[in-house]
Amino acid sequence: MKYIDEFRNKRLAQILVRKIIDILPVRAVNIMEVCGTHTQNFYRFGLDRLLPPGIRFISGPGCPVCVSPERYIDDAIKLARRKNFIIVTFGDMLRIPGSNSSLENERAKNANVRVIYSPLESLTIAKLNPDKKVVFLAVGFETTAPGIALTILMAKKERLKNLFFLTSRKLIPAAMRNLLLDKRLKLDAFLCPGHVSAIIGTKDYAQIVKKYRIGCCVAGFEPVDILEGIFILLKQIAEKRPKMANQYMRVVRREGNPKAKKIINRVFKKYDSLWRGLGMIPDSGLKIKNEFAQFDAGRFLPISKPTKINRRQAQCRCAEVLKGLISPIACKLFSRVCSPENPLGACMVSSEGACNAQYKYKCYG
Ligand code: SF4
Repeated sequence: MKYIDEFRNKRLAQILVRKIIDILPVRAVNIMEVCGTHTQNFYRFGLDRLLPPGIRFISGPGCPVCVSPERYIDDAIKLARRKNFIIVTFGDMLRIPGSNSSLENERAKNANVRVIYSPLESLTIAKLNPDKKVVFLAVGFETTAPGIALTILMAKKERLKNLFFLTSRKLIPAAMRNLLLDKRLKLDAFLCPGHVSAIIGTKDYAQIVKKYRIGCCVAGFEPVDILEGIFILLKQIAEKRPKMANQYMRVVRREGNPKAKKIINRVFKKYDSLWRGLGMIPDSGLKIKNEFAQFDAGRFLPISKPTKINRRQAQCRCAEVLKGLISPIACKLFSRVCSPENPLGACMVSSEGACNAQYKYKCYG
């Protein structure tokens, strides 16, 4: 299959691993990837077992569902409990634990919660249910922002009065800058996300390289892509010349996707946003502009107060996993109490979560 088989070529992967071993510095190197698909594929293709121990490959906050704060899930649950509300969402959101329940639990108690596969489906559901308020849970990074923005524009054009969006939109470069302020992490380089970069391009990373003197390489998702990305970053580290590199040139352009950026800027504006694990980060989120405020589901919610969580959930270390401070297996609940069948934290639910990836591909003893 074009663009897949050649990037899963075993011989090429072996050559790259040898090149990585040849160039590896004496000290350990910390490379963070900020993309859930990199996390999954790193373990899925066994790259953790192929690479030499001198490379610490750290999963960062690259799972959109995982970084949505608990308060967001609680707000979604509050809306799901209201009469005449339909909640529409992507499947991953159902099992994310809020403080005391999940959307899956609420659905079992008769809440009207539906799984959709495209934001555009929310338009149809709203039209078919004019007597109900339909709320789409719009979480995610830059990758999915154009689709959400387009749906809002279409809702406006079609004068829909019963479709709303509960947003938790996050911006990856802002999170990367925030991580670099945490001296505990000691990061040497970033493997940057391919999907997000297809939208935003590479200029934001170039600014990070310039300001923080740390290498950034945008990489694709197949094993050869990831290994080549790691090799490029190690070469920069060996030469002490951090740069913005683009391994994923078959998809990502320097300027990104101007049409997608235009549609995002038409509907959303930046604001200070709360991330699970990372806390409040300036200008790290997108919220609906005043011009489209009629579609903001936040209007149905009172200012939320922090809710008490149960004792087991309090032991969940997702916050540290998302920040790259610990590996999932350092959490004492991992695989003993917490598993994809019985998740205690967001990182075990989503297929892009670090705990889920390490559990699924049995990357533990
Ligand atoms: Fe939380 Fe489960 Fe991951 Fe532990 S293993 S950090 S409880 S999601």
